[in-house]
Amino acid sequence: MNLVVALDGPSASGKSTIAHILAKRLGLVHVDTGAMYRAVTLLCFKRGVDPKDEKKACELLKDADIKLTIDDKVILNGEDVTKEIRNKYVSDNVSYIASYKTVRLFLVEQQRKLADNLSIVMDGRDIGTYVLPEADVKIYQVASVETRAQRRYKENQEKGISTSYEEVLENLKKRDYIDSHRDFAPLKPAKDSIILDTSNLTIEQVVDECERIIKEKVKERNENIG
Ligand code: C5P
Repeated sequence: MNLVVALDGPSASGKSTIAHILAKRLGLVHVDTGAMYRAVTLLCFKRGVDPKDEKKACELLKDADIKLTIDDKVILNGEDVTKEIRNKYVSDNVSYIASYKTVRLFLVEQQRKLADNLSIVMDGRDIGTYVLPEADVKIYQVASVETRAQRRYKENQEKGISTSYEEVLENLKKRDYIDSHRDFAPLKPAKDSIILDTSNLTIEQVVDECERIIKEKVKERNENIG
């Protein structure tokens, strides 16, 4: 029987890192939905379209062939854009793109198809509430915006991306606001999700806790079936 895990939470709460490790540990396929919104934003950049121009941005969807590979690579129209989708232009503009209903419906359809017949962990903002409301396990990760900014700043430094802590903090606050105030599928925990505060936990501890939650849910599910 397939296992579907929805992992949601605000920007830089560590979802992708956790989902990646969890997937390896539990033999699940990892689907990073944020990467898909980022790929559409990058396409705007490549085609000279202003991401704030909803009509023009949505017109680009007919040319957007986005693939996520099993080893977490992001392919846009045949090109490996795994690194490029993390650049500042994309981070600064992705929340506008993600607020357009046409973009969301286009990507959600693909996300649901990816979840068909697979055991997966899918991370994003609306997985438990909208994309996969029947998921077996729903975890909503939280951490203060300062903690998240500190983590992202450190990560950027390690990757050689030069942004100040203040810039990172501002970007996260802006994205939090847009993501949680949009009309369609806004960022919020599903009623049946487990809230996990990761502020004082290491990555290893978060993964262990997620694994414990998942195993407990699977046990309950199997007992109910049996
Ligand atoms: O997770 P990541 O930070 O890469 O996501 C980039 C952006 O994509 C988020 O700031 C959010 O605006 C959007 N997003 C979304 N719904 C998802 C995943 C990401 O709106 N399921």
